[in-house]
Amino acid sequence: MNKSIQNIIKKIDILSEKIGRRINLMEVCGTHTQAVARYGIRELMPKNIRLTSGPGCPVCVTSQEDIDMIVNLALAGIPVATYGDMMRVPGVYGSLDQAREKGAKVFTVYSVEEALVLQKKYPDLVFFGLGFETTAAMTAYAVKKGLTVFSVHKLFIPAMKALLKLGELKIDGFINPGHVSTIIGVKPYTDIKAPQVITGFIAEDILIGIYMLLRQLAENRAEVENEYLRSVRQEGNPAALKSIFEVFDVEDGNWRGFGVIPKSGLEIKNKFKNQNAKIKYKKILDKIDFSKSKKTTACKCGEIIRGLKEPRECPLFKKLCTPEYPVGPCMVSVEGACNVEYRYNQNAKIKNQKSK
Ligand code: SF4
Repeated sequence: MNKSIQNIIKKIDILSEKIGRRINLMEVCGTHTQAVARYGIRELMPKNIRLTSGPGCPVCVTSQEDIDMIVNLALAGIPVATYGDMMRVPGVYGSLDQAREKGAKVFTVYSVEEALVLQKKYPDLVFFGLGFETTAAMTAYAVKKGLTVFSVHKLFIPAMKALLKLGELKIDGFINPGHVSTIIGVKPYTDIKAPQVITGFIAEDILIGIYMLLRQLAENRAEVENEYLRSVRQEGNPAALKSIFEVFDVEDGNWRGFGVIPKSGLEIKNKFKNQNAKIKYKKILDKIDFSKSKKTTACKCGEIIRGLKEPRECPLFKKLCTPEYPVGPCMVSVEGACNVEYRYNQNAKIKNQKSK
């Protein structure tokens, strides 16, 4: 372990002892979920610090109803394209992958450009657009280029506020998402009354972020600090934000684990209504029976997304639910807490180095 990491850990140990109580810190970004596990950061924490994952995985927070709608469109013969991990999320009517096995035209894409190319061959193609501000900016660009989209894009800040409002878990501080922050900047977080630090994704970034959060707690402050100065500007990316709000209106969003969060969704503006799959294919969507989508299952993704449970607390974890045979989206997505826990549950890099 390098000297600088050792020093940060020492400072974390001193501050956590000084605070002297249980501290819950939540990261709200799928890439942070992976980085925390990959570097073994949880294992480096003093006993009174709990690091938990929140609603930062875009695939995981996509609602069951939205998945059932896009699968039904595919089964009805509408060509569908979306990002890789979404393909395998099981819904009541199966997954997009299973729809493809039944003969539906379903395509995995790695960018909206690929979807635009596909649309030339399949003019009815629908792009299932998911994710937060980062991917919404790319979808906005593609809508302007003529792509038809089923938008389940979401805004990040309302989910953080919803978590605090629910009050199910005492969250002492947030490790704010690096990628989303490159788009929205620092200011929007100031509405949230909790200690927050925007951090990058290498081990040092995250450890410094944790140290900065503890410093706020020790000094009784609740501010937004930016550790990720090399990528996140105060004002974010005004051009990307402008593009998002040229194409999308802010509406209520349906989140797995939360239900509807007011003003948390991005819906295609009326001026692009001919490219809004929810309007274009309303007749197909109106016929779907959603009563089954609402049925509860043994999957604990909802609680995991809200930081109330750890993957190992799910009775299906590693038994009936594995990355090969996922029961819920948290095991499908490489950013999902269950998938990450499954892959990195061995001693991780830094932890191993610590003992050397
Ligand atoms: S282990 Fe599987 S079933 Fe359990 S919460 Fe995670 S995704 Fe859901």
